[in-house]
Amino acid sequence: MSIVNKLETECDLSDSDLKALLETDIYDDKLKVSADKVRQKFYGKDVYLRGLIEFTNHCKNNCLYCGIRADNKNCERYRLSKGEIFSCCREGYELGFRTFVLQGGEDLSYSDKDICEIVSNVKAAYPDCAVTLSIGERSKQSYIDYFNAGTDRYLLRHETANEEHYKRLHPSSMSSDNRKRCLFDLKEIGYQVGSGFMVGSPFQTTECLIEDLRFLQVLEPDMIGIGPFISHKHTPFKNYKNGSISLTLRLISVLRLMFPKALIPATTALGTLHPRGREMGLACGANVVMPNLSPVSVRNKYAIYDNKICTGEESAQCRTCLERRVNSAGYKVVTDRGDAKTRLY
Ligand code: SAH
Repeated sequence: MSIVNKLETECDLSDSDLKALLETDIYDDKLKVSADKVRQKFYGKDVYLRGLIEFTNHCKNNCLYCGIRADNKNCERYRLSKGEIFSCCREGYELGFRTFVLQGGEDLSYSDKDICEIVSNVKAAYPDCAVTLSIGERSKQSYIDYFNAGTDRYLLRHETANEEHYKRLHPSSMSSDNRKRCLFDLKEIGYQVGSGFMVGSPFQTTECLIEDLRFLQVLEPDMIGIGPFISHKHTPFKNYKNGSISLTLRLISVLRLMFPKALIPATTALGTLHPRGREMGLACGANVVMPNLSPVSVRNKYAIYDNKICTGEESAQCRTCLERRVNSAGYKVVTDRGDAKTRLY
């Protein structure tokens, strides 16, 4: 049996088979066909929309790769008010979004009470929508409070599962252990959890990627987001090269085969490195896109990496543009919360 057939039937491979698969392009076509078959078995041609609202670019952290890191003095900072965040959701609702993702740097000027109020206001106005938070590492009690306020989902990429690699991407004040602790807390509380990692971040090896896949097998997240690392000119990683598009696509297919029911986005980072990056991501097994709903006045300020796309268009334009892209890839956008088909694989 070929290595790809084996992955498709068993949803798993040995480390050495994974290494072989990740380090060559000879299986890419087979992988893509197989991933698309599995994706269609569970999700048909449906693509779910997540309206992304980047509500603050203030951050207390100093992740070495990230353009909104605290030490980047060139970053022009902004915060959206509760009213502005709500308006983005209202506009999104009218455009057919049924999931809102509130993402930001780790900005403690929004208290837990503020976050709960923001979420409960959106849920009260749009009970048929899911609200996702993506605001980094917090205490278990904070996560419980956000959940009780109505938050359905939480996105927190583990970034890299390898402790040594994690240390090379983050300041010593941060740890892989704490990030993993957060993810397990979130699951235990009852959130639909999303995790993931960057592809081609500095010092990453194939072994790191295999550890990432193994970690995800333990976590069993509902959503898995990956995208290529893209360097940002005002970070310590400014001279490192960008992650590879083909390796990212290959990993999307591997993820689809290992986690058949996962929700996997075709990310903006993929679209930034290639004009048809997101379409290619969909063809390789992704089933989610995340159009930007942030006000245009702040779009280009949430610059986590250089040349980020979709910074000039209004929300409605972003929605239309992505729908066109989804259709051109042979799939269709659905107006639906887009929950994972089941929590168990
Ligand atoms: N503060 C939140 C949101 C971070 S931004 C949190 O900690 O989860 C969302 C994701 O963007 C990050 O998890 C990271 O994987 C990705 N990212 C950050 N900088 C990047 C870069 N230079 N290239 C590619 N992806 C990047």
